[in-house]
Order: sequence, then structure tokens, then C-alpha cells
Amino acid sequence: KEEKTLNFIEEIVEKDLSENKHGGRVLTRFPPEPNGYLHIGHAKSICLNFGLAQKYGGGTNLRFDDTNPTTEDVEYVDSIKNDVQWLGFNWVEERYASDYFDQLYAFAVKLIEKGLAYVDDSTAEEIAALKGTPTEPGKPGPYRDRAVAENLELFERMRKGEFAEGSRVLRAKIDLASPNMHLRDPFMYRIKFAHHHRTGDKWCIYPMYDFAHGQSDAIEKITHSICTLEFIPHRALYDWFIEKLDIFPSKQYEFARLNLTYTVMSKRKLLQLVQEGHVSGWDDPRMPTISGLRRRGYTPASIRNFCERIGVARRDNLIDMSLLEFCVREDLNAIAPRRMAVLDPLKVVITNYPEGREEMCLSENNPEKPETGDREMPFSRELYIEQDDFMENPPKKYFRLAPGQMVRLKSAYIIRCDEVVKNAEGTIEEVRCTYIENSKSGQDESGLKVKGTLHWVSAAHSIPVEIRQYDRLFRVEDPASQEGDFKEYLNPDSLSIITARAEPAFKTATPGEAFQLLRKGYFSVDSDSVDGKVVLNQTVGLRDNWAK
Ligand code: ATP
Ligand code: MG
Ligand code: MG
Repeated sequence: KEEKTLNFIEEIVEKDLSENKHGGRVLTRFPPEPNGYLHIGHAKSICLNFGLAQKYGGGTNLRFDDTNPTTEDVEYVDSIKNDVQWLGFNWVEERYASDYFDQLYAFAVKLIEKGLAYVDDSTAEEIAALKGTPTEPGKPGPYRDRAVAENLELFERMRKGEFAEGSRVLRAKIDLASPNMHLRDPFMYRIKFAHHHRTGDKWCIYPMYDFAHGQSDAIEKITHSICTLEFIPHRALYDWFIEKLDIFPSKQYEFARLNLTYTVMSKRKLLQLVQEGHVSGWDDPRMPTISGLRRRGYTPASIRNFCERIGVARRDNLIDMSLLEFCVREDLNAIAPRRMAVLDPLKVVITNYPEGREEMCLSENNPEKPETGDREMPFSRELYIEQDDFMENPPKKYFRLAPGQMVRLKSAYIIRCDEVVKNAEGTIEEVRCTYIENSKSGQDESGLKVKGTLHWVSAAHSIPVEIRQYDRLFRVEDPASQEGDFKEYLNPDSLSIITARAEPAFKTATPGEAFQLLRKGYFSVDSDSVDGKVVLNQTVGLRDNWAK
């Protein structure tokens, strides 16, 4: 097994283990806020947190960071659990920050008692005006030195619902002159008369992220709390609360978030695409969500492999979408059964093949997995090939079908084109060919050498299938950093739907199955497929067509 260099978080964990910190225990957590579906950026965080724990014999908690009742919903909780499991990971415990509301309240009371927190009656504007700027210190407001007893009483009355939303907040009393703005008496609690998807109407005050996250980590005895770079300035506050409360010393570490070309990676923006109908839902196959990728035909292994390849670093970057595509292509090449379908049919009549006759051709299911054997494909007098596999006046070195030229039909016979039949407008209606009787694949005695091999289907035996072809969701590499509304940069042609003719094996295809359509790419059976009507999503082409 090749020796791999450790990423910076693995280095930290190995150092902690060598010093027997936390008794050699590793416990991470994945902390989604249930306010949207998970996206490929979350997959990076999931693979990192769960992967790290697996590697060092530890575990990972799934913790819903549900401290913001107005945007959260059980629909999201369910989808998140499903997506994490689908990616191949199992959590040790399922936790909710809201389960800790009583404990967090008690922590807040403790800080008030220590003179480290106070109730501020100022308006948001008044507080902002006194906060200073990064180069100018802030100034104390009129409520900063309130007596402990008064703070305790007011905080309790906040909890009881005696004050209006926005009229009071609980703030930590830290340092109004700190160069770190997050330490200038940050908010701990705000009043919000909102129904919570788990605690109902029990609470009308809710903790801020900074007063919930680190404390939840400590309650669960998380050893390594991994988050994205924008939380670096929050770290001092994370440590301050833990120190002043004298609770389990969880530590925060930051890594670079994943950004991908030609898409957006924020739940807020993805929600807009859903709500405004730019896509069919969170699981639209063009979405960078886990559910969208799954429906598109991505496999869990391909996503894990992608996360492995991009690695973990401490500097932000933009990853090329074609790397993600490379990973799914690589996986599907190994596992996807091969099938034939003609996307843009041209009729071929084999004039020397008797009408009414049919025979079976054996075609390999997957040359990468010979043990999967062959399937039967019916051959008959009338077939379809692709329009662009035929040219009436071909250039030199055109090895597909043309008048007088021969090609092999994959797993079947060599045919020669004799005649082109056109309608009154001059459009080609069919091409008439003869087949070489002793040239059948596997028993070819013709001695003929032909350069082109085409996919095909028998006209009468083939079935219509709907194919949904996808292009980039956005026209520009980095839509989120463009001027104006990011939605102006949507690609209007990101979806096109055609009807193809597919070999009859598709009659039994079931949603979620993946296939390689020969010479066309990888396709996944969509959940919109109903009896008698198959819908395929194009997962990815056979080659990287995006290369500039
Ligand atoms: P968004 O900005 O999309 O709403 P978020 O960070 O607010 O994302 P959370 O539900 O809080 O969403 O994220 C859960 C975890 O996933 C956090 O630890 C967060 O750091 C991580 N995460 C979110 N987006 C990315 C990303 N693009 N790359 C890597 N990790 C991410
Ligand atoms: Mg968040
Ligand atoms: Mg967010």
C-alpha cells in the first residue's frame, strides 16, 4: 500500500494521539443546520469528519445545528440523514443542538453569575454604533455594568416571554477594544417568538451560533471540531466560552471549503433556485446537492473518491467540475452494464435479410467485468443507427457508414451501404444496405477488415426511452462572484429532452440503475420512469467534453 502524506488535520490528530490527549479518543461531529439539502461541499466535510474518525478508530456524531427555528424543518433533517447514510457513513449518535437548550440556558446563567454576561436593552442600531471599527475600539453602552442580580432577573424574564423581539439581547462581557470584532461583547441570546421544529413553543429566546456550537461540542466531548475557514475569527470566542464555563476542552480546526466551477454552493442560493422554479427541486439532476447528484447517477464511491482527491487544505480554491465528472466516469466504467440506444435514429434496411426473420446477437455486458456475461440483442431486417454515423458525401478517412462503405454493427454483422432513399424534400429517409452473412461477431469468417463499429438497435424490437441531457447549470465559471444577481448567469440550455430508441433490455430497467450507452456516455434510470416508459438521465459523457 502506497505511503500517503498526512493532511494537516491528520497531523494534528496523530500528535494528539501520541500525547495521549483525551485518552487516545477521537470523536468528530458533522453539524449541518437543517435549513436545506446537503451539497457536494457538505460531502467534503462529511468525508473529512467521518473519514478521520474511521482512520483513527474513533467515531462521529451527526449533530443538527438547529438553533435558528425560522429556517429549519424536519424535511431537511430526514434528507440529511438519508444523504449521509447513502454516502456510506454511520454516525455514533444523532444529536440536536436544541436538545441542549436547557443546558445552554444554565451555562448562560453561570456566566451572568460570574459577571461575564449582561442583558443589553439597546436597539440593534445603538449597539452597532458603539461597536467601533476594526481599527477603532468600541465604547461601553449604558447597560454593560448592570448588577448580576438585575441581569439574572431580566434574562429570566426574556425567557418567560415578557419582552418584545429585538428589545433585549444577552451579551458576553469580554473586550470592547479587542482587534477581533467577535470578542467585542458578542450576542449570546436573542428573543424570537418562533415555533421550533423540535422544541415547539417552549422557547422564545434562542442561542446564537457562537454560544451553541462550542458548548454542544463540549457537551458531547468532541475532540476535534472541524469547520470551514470563515470561522477562524470565531475561534477565540469558542475558546473563551469553554474556558470561562470550565467545560470539556473541545478544539476547533478550520479547513478550506469546497467551491466548484459552474455552480453555486450555498444553501441560500440553492433554495432560491428551487423556490423560483429554475430547477425542478432540490434533487434536480443539475443541482450540486447530494440528492441531485444521486439522481443524476453519481455513485457514493465516486463522490468519496472525489473528496479524497481534492484533499484538505487551508487555502480557498475553485475546483474544476470536470474532476468530479472524471471520478464518476471512472467508477461507472468499472461497474455499469453496457447497453445500446440510438439517440437520433436513421433507419437502415438490410435488403438481403428476409422480412419477418429475427435472430439474437450476444453482446457483452461489461468488458471490465467479464463475469457479468452477455445479453441477447435482437437483429432484424430494419434497424436504427445514429444520423451522424452516416454521411452521403464523406470526407477522406470517414470510417462510419457511407455509400459503398462497410462498417461493423457492434456484436452483429458487417453491412455495406448500397443506396440512399430520400423524400421529395431531399431529406434522407433511410439507407439500404446488405449484410455479409458469414461476418457475425464471434463467428466471423468473412476475412473482411472494417475500421468502424457502430451501435444500433432493431427497429421493431427497440423501445422509446426519454433521455434528459444536461449541460452546465451556469454559463460562467464562478457565478457567485459575478456582478448582480447570480441567477442572471444561469444557462438557459442546461436541460434538453429527446426520445431515443433503446434495445429491449431497457424494458426491465429500474430507477437508480446505471448504464453505459455505447459511444454515448453514462446514464441513470430516473425515478420518473413508470411502467412502460423509461426515463434516463445523462450522468456524464464518455470523455471530457468541457475541456477548453
Ligand atoms: P451553506 O453556506 O451552504 O449554507 P453552511 O456552512 O451554512 O453551508 P451547514 O449546514 O452549517 O451549512 O454546514 C455543515 C457543515 O458542512 C459545516 O461544518 C460546514 O463547515 C460544512 N460545509 C458547508 N459548506 C461546505 C463547503 N462548501 N465545503 C466544505 N465544507 C462545507
Ligand atoms: Mg452553518
Ligand atoms: Mg449557511
